[in-house]
Amino acid sequence: MPMPDPSDRPLRVAIIGSGPAAFYAAEAVFKAPGRTVTIDMIDRLPTPYGLVRGGVAPDHQKIKSVIAIYEKIAAHPGFRFFGNVEFGRHVTRADLQHYFHAIIYATGAQTDRRLGIPGEDLEGSHSATEFVAWYNGHPDFRDRRFDLSVERVAVIGVGNVAIDVARILCLTPDELSATDMADHAIAALSLSRVKEISILGRRGPVQAAFTTVEVKELGELSAADVCVRPDEVALDPLSAAELEAARSATRAKVEIVQEFSRRTPSGKPRRLHIRFLVSPHEVRGDARGRVSEIELVRTRLVKSPTGAIVTEPTGETEVLPVGLVFRSVGYRGVPLEDVPFDERAGLIPNAQGRVLDRAGGTPLAGHYATGWIKRGPTGVIGNNKADSVETVNALLADATAGVLPAPAEPGPAAFEALVRQRQGACVSFADWKRLDTLEVERGKAQGRPRVKFTSVEAMVGALAGT
Ligand code: NAP
Repeated sequence: MPMPDPSDRPLRVAIIGSGPAAFYAAEAVFKAPGRTVTIDMIDRLPTPYGLVRGGVAPDHQKIKSVIAIYEKIAAHPGFRFFGNVEFGRHVTRADLQHYFHAIIYATGAQTDRRLGIPGEDLEGSHSATEFVAWYNGHPDFRDRRFDLSVERVAVIGVGNVAIDVARILCLTPDELSATDMADHAIAALSLSRVKEISILGRRGPVQAAFTTVEVKELGELSAADVCVRPDEVALDPLSAAELEAARSATRAKVEIVQEFSRRTPSGKPRRLHIRFLVSPHEVRGDARGRVSEIELVRTRLVKSPTGAIVTEPTGETEVLPVGLVFRSVGYRGVPLEDVPFDERAGLIPNAQGRVLDRAGGTPLAGHYATGWIKRGPTGVIGNNKADSVETVNALLADATAGVLPAPAEPGPAAFEALVRQRQGACVSFADWKRLDTLEVERGKAQGRPRVKFTSVEAMVGALAGT
């Protein structure tokens, strides 16, 4: 039986974060049958859409068209956006409990996993997440510097982020200038002297985390030859057996890298090497403490007691001279103030989206998680939809069961007054749409999808000037 729902007492839901998982959660809440709902979405940046703006590669504009769906969700009369408002700084968990029946944490995975090898923090060794945020104009990363005067770069890991980073390093100035990449990154990458890029996978092609379309694109670059060593894509018996049982997409991606291995470089200005069965052992520096080489241990594949295909060192090592290292071994969630966090897993402990007081513990009434902070940093944008539906189903079941705590002040005006008192430069969705229009207009003049504002000051200043 649905909870009685007089229209003057809507269900009030706060969503922290405004990436895909946040919007799919909002959509699912609005679809709740027979219930009036209002949603306040809070993001620490003035701009919404999380990794769609700050993570998706700037030369992959089509993927960003998903924003049209989020704009429709934001157009719901019960939706409000509070950008430039930070959870834990401008509003606390206790504040939100005062104004909302339920809080959904959708903060994603904002940092990177560590390699745990010597030298990974040397100057010139960066996380891929930093580089991606820098070239996408994330305000927190706009001042980062990457030494692109070096000739050789290693990208550790063979996931789609590694592929993005390697591909971006291969684009020509003309290709870069056609994107919505941050201006500072276009300027720096246009002057890049990088010639050899090596993507390093510790297991084989069958186990590689990249997907078919993404790896195929590496063979179609205008200014880089893709190079693969035949011996590294010849399948060992374990991989052959795994491939036999695998989905056709896995077979396709193995065929793609095997086809790459039969190519001879055509003399393009850059070479992009996709390596397998090499595990980074140590990053070493020169006398000035700057990255100069990486020691790799060659691996073979073995079955673990759980049946997973893992690596063991063969004893053979290799030294790869490089001036820049990007560690691309996965994202990791960061804890939120006063919200339970499972340090080992790097996420909010939860059961089907209900936040637990600790891993394996009991649910905290009225608290939910969705997206990467719920399940870990896996899957593509669309995977967040089902994930958010699961979380919202739990929330709605709790609402129906009457277990959501009643907020002391459920009126939307009272919460807005609190936020504006704490953060005068709070950005509404209408404000964002003005910024969006300005960015697109700036882009039109240059034949680009948009020219991004890359600092919070510039965004707030532009809004004040319009
Ligand atoms: P990922 O897919 O989890 O890949 C991580 C890679 O790092 C794997 O190859 C993994 O190898 C390797 N790795 C982990 N620990 C390592 C270690 N200690 N030494 C060497 N290698 C290590 O992570 P991601 O690339 O950050 O991507 C995150 C998610 O975003 C993925 O679901 C991805 O598909 C998605 N994404 C999608 C797109 C797109 O659709 N175009 C673009 C970007 C990202 P093992 O497998 O051996 O652990």
